[in-house]
Amino acid sequence: MNLREKTKQIKIGNITLGGDNNVLIQSMCDIKTSNVKKVIKEINDCEKLGASLMRVSILDKKDALAIKEIKKNISIPLIGDIHYSDELALLAIENGIDKIRINPINTPMDKLISIINKANQYNVAIRIGLNEGSTTPEGKNITSINGLVNLALKTIKFFEENNFFNLVISIKSSSPLKTIKIYEKLAKNTNYPLHIGVTESGFDDIGIIRSTIGLSNLLLKGIGNTIRVSLTQNPQLEVITAKRMLHDLNLYPNYPTIISCPTCGRCKVNNLNEIVNKITAYLEENNINIKIAVMGCIVNGIGESKNADIGIAGANHKFIIFKNRKIIKTVEENNLFNELVIEINKLISKQ
Ligand code: SF4
Repeated sequence: MNLREKTKQIKIGNITLGGDNNVLIQSMCDIKTSNVKKVIKEINDCEKLGASLMRVSILDKKDALAIKEIKKNISIPLIGDIHYSDELALLAIENGIDKIRINPINTPMDKLISIINKANQYNVAIRIGLNEGSTTPEGKNITSINGLVNLALKTIKFFEENNFFNLVISIKSSSPLKTIKIYEKLAKNTNYPLHIGVTESGFDDIGIIRSTIGLSNLLLKGIGNTIRVSLTQNPQLEVITAKRMLHDLNLYPNYPTIISCPTCGRCKVNNLNEIVNKITAYLEENNINIKIAVMGCIVNGIGESKNADIGIAGANHKFIIFKNRKIIKTVEENNLFNELVIEINKLISKQ
């Protein structure tokens, strides 16, 4: 049994987090919550891509009241992100939020009592979510690993003393190496499910690399029950990145494995990049769980193609298609995608 399986299981809306349940992907809307229609669309788009939970910011009363309408139009649990205010937390709970995130660095203990009581009454989960960048009402921040972990543990104790156990814990840093140390310490000291993430990890591949360093290291040690990849870009990209990461860690089975050649002077076809993108998008959009190899020539193309469910290797502006380790046809470049879709669909109809 790994560390993840030893964690408690908690209910968030219609899902269970922790224990031997799957590591769940979550993201956060980048639209003001009171902009209800756009928020609903973004949540449903992210769900389609693989998100099991979505979070929204609750900045004011309008955002808290918008929860009711949003909840009617989505099917995954909704989390409200609340800082400083107990009033907004209470309003969000009354309007149907499934879980709230509070930050003990900026929300003093005395404000937590009313939130705890209301969350217990409505069966709402709470994430104690600390962040290295957060400041206290007096403008101080906590940056040491011990300081952050001790505050999280002190807050857990406070919740338990007030008869609240439906908790998820997170402590995020923008440094992947510090994130690893923080969560290793946290996992030794609590068995509540852990939400892991490298916060404010950056833009594009900078953020993807930082998140992958931090999260994959922890996940391989059995630490982490739900993940968020925090990128400067949109939540859809966060979900796709999280899904690809979990898949390569054997933690997200329903996803294609794509092998593609890095291209070199031997490449025998044009636009290999474009072809790989098109095939990847098709397999991802349709959640097709097969292994496919797209190779530019026969040097490694034959071996990789034979090891995949379907493989293609470039050969003088044509592609050789392999299926079940055998060559089944040779097609022109301009016809490759259509031929490939036919073969993929034949394959999955037999699965
Ligand atoms: S598969 Fe062929 S084209 Fe692609 S990198 Fe290898 S040798 Fe080069």
